[in-house]
Amino acid sequence: MQQIERNQLSSDDLAAYTADQIRKQTSTGPTFNPNHDNNLNLNKNGSSEDLESPAESDEENGNVKRKFPKFKARDDDFVIKFEVGQIFTNVDLFRNVVRNYALQNKKDLVFDKNDTKRIVIKCTEKCPFYLRASKYVQNNYFQIVTFKDEHTCYLSNRNRQARPSFLAKKFVHLLRHTPHMKLKALAEEARHRWSVRLSRYQVSRARVKAIAMIEGATLEQYKHLRSYGEELRRSDPGTIVKIKTMVDAGVVVFERIYVCLAACKRAFATTCRPLIGLDGCFLKGVYGGQLLTAVGKDGNNQMYHIAYAVVEAETKDSWEWFVDLLLADLDSIQSKRWCFISDQQKGLVPTLAAMDENVDHRFCVKHLYGNWRKKYPGQEMKGALWSAARANTMSHWEKTMDKLKELNEEAWNDMKQIPIKQWSRAGYSTYPKCDLQVNNMCEAFNRAILEYRDKPIINMLEGSSILPTGL
Ligand SMILES: [Zn+2]
Repeated sequence: MQQIERNQLSSDDLAAYTADQIRKQTSTGPTFNPNHDNNLNLNKNGSSEDLESPAESDEENGNVKRKFPKFKARDDDFVIKFEVGQIFTNVDLFRNVVRNYALQNKKDLVFDKNDTKRIVIKCTEKCPFYLRASKYVQNNYFQIVTFKDEHTCYLSNRNRQARPSFLAKKFVHLLRHTPHMKLKALAEEARHRWSVRLSRYQVSRARVKAIAMIEGATLEQYKHLRSYGEELRRSDPGTIVKIKTMVDAGVVVFERIYVCLAACKRAFATTCRPLIGLDGCFLKGVYGGQLLTAVGKDGNNQMYHIAYAVVEAETKDSWEWFVDLLLADLDSIQSKRWCFISDQQKGLVPTLAAMDENVDHRFCVKHLYGNWRKKYPGQEMKGALWSAARANTMSHWEKTMDKLKELNEEAWNDMKQIPIKQWSRAGYSTYPKCDLQVNNMCEAFNRAILEYRDKPIINMLEGSSILPTGL
């Protein structure tokens, strides 16, 4: 070991080496293996490769452990920094980090040596950048033994690490959200983020691989849907999970899933006012579909999540299926007269109208006005409609309607067509003890689950159940 010519070491390497040697003098030292490439010697760049093994030293003999920084995998936006002595748990992790580093720093790095014992990374021909890592003797760990972080190269739009298989992983989050993203847009994204110019063929291959990854993961989750339902039932007895499938050409195809957690329905049916907001929102994943939700209000006037379902689309049939299951669930806890508030969704209005007199249906006035104002715009019209909606007594309501008639008879006639019990406080049933006129609980819920709407089905269902209820 003493044969080292220290004047060949760079100052950083020398400092690291000296500190290492001082520690080693107080210990029995690491295992020396004369046949192994990693034993102390100097490479052509003049740095020591003997940084390894103290992590394995024996504490009983009074050895002092030298702690080398261990690389921890983080998300894509994490800025990678290399240093001499840094440890990577295996060679694949190190290769992956180097590729990310090349893209992050917009440098055309290349693997000069690349095997399971050592990896050498260089930049373009005359650039002094040099990175070398070697394998530990005892385990699979890889450690950086030399790092010269200096570039004299020019910025170029070539990057040999921007391979389709690697880019595919980078495109996954983009394509999960917008599966129909154009090749041109993906190429532009690569140019903007990593300054690489990709051919149409390269982008196309990366896109195909990324879609396969997303679909593979998404498809896989449908296979576990029944086990997921079983687990929900086991962990919260009384939970209802209904999965509807159909058989298409001999293959069982997922159609719908309905989930109503026992704890949620029990607390809602016994303690909350019987007013339920209904809404549907699009799912942005590969297979699309819609999420139907039932949201109430708790004692603090906060949104309270009752049940949710994934269906193929908002139709009369799917709403009927959802509302029937929901009412059966709630009535199984406590039979009541239920009042719904909705945005007059397609299929929902006739579904609720066909129910017995124990079901009321209010229209969200904000949504109602949104459609109405296309025909009758203006602040005056808006004021007239809202005062009619907010009127608390029949006489007040009649007065406000007379005012509306003066302003625009056609608009007045339109509003007369809608039963008063569906849009004005004067006509609301007093049974729910709630004068809520807008479906804001559902809007708040849709906003809260926004980040889960493009996820594979189980992640999405989990996000929908955990986040808003805080269970
Ligand atoms: Zn360079």
